[in-house]
Amino acid sequence: MELTVLGYYGGYPDHGVGTSAYLVRSGDYQLLMDCGSGALLALEKYGDPLALDAVLLTHYHHDHAADLGVLQYYYQLHPGTKKMSPLPVYGHTKDPLNFAALTFGSFTQGVGYTADSTLTLGPLRLTFLETAHPVPAFAVRIEELATGQVLVNTSDTRAFAGLAPFAADCDLLMADTNFLAEHQPPMWHLTSTQAGTLAAAAGAGRLLLTHLPQTVDLAQLQAEAQVAAGAIPVRLATAGLRLSVAQ
Ligand SMILES: [Zn+2]
Ligand SMILES: [Zn+2]
Repeated sequence: MELTVLGYYGGYPDHGVGTSAYLVRSGDYQLLMDCGSGALLALEKYGDPLALDAVLLTHYHHDHAADLGVLQYYYQLHPGTKKMSPLPVYGHTKDPLNFAALTFGSFTQGVGYTADSTLTLGPLRLTFLETAHPVPAFAVRIEELATGQVLVNTSDTRAFAGLAPFAADCDLLMADTNFLAEHQPPMWHLTSTQAGTLAAAAGAGRLLLTHLPQTVDLAQLQAEAQVAAGAIPVRLATAGLRLSVAQ
């Protein structure tokens, strides 16, 4: 299983880099995980939008879903050349208006999930954990069935006790790391120290800091996370970064 970072900022795109969007590949299977601002341009650059098997949205904040509308137009305007028609778009059902918008004509089809869902998408098995965020949002645990490799994405969340067991023993942990250690509440994302602490508590193989802020020193963010993570390797998301989930 392989992860490609298409966009990694929280909130808004900055200097040519978009917000949350990731491509998960397992063999020929391709899952777009979140579809933030700039996702379609990055997907054209680092992949092929028409080669997607499915899209998964962790929640409906714009920095995770802004490009879904233009992806839907892209599918409308490329008749006959795509792998999936309609393209399934998985989203939670706690927000009926946003969930309804996942379906667009015969081009994309919304498919609901809940905290209790276990989805088998091609070679992948997905489970979910509702996070602590101002709107319903879900962390996702993706297991590649053939290899047992596990990728966990916290999505957007503040720190809470359920995250570590959900991420237990994953090979690669993607953590919403939007704040330096010194950040004071209220907060709806992890700090650098909390991301590192989570990786250590979960026994993660590696930690990828993502959903990054635009205005802080990222070297400091990484260093703070590394102190908390101990021996677990920590790195920052970068545009186009392609990582094998295998350790
Ligand atoms: Zn976000
Ligand atoms: Zn959010």
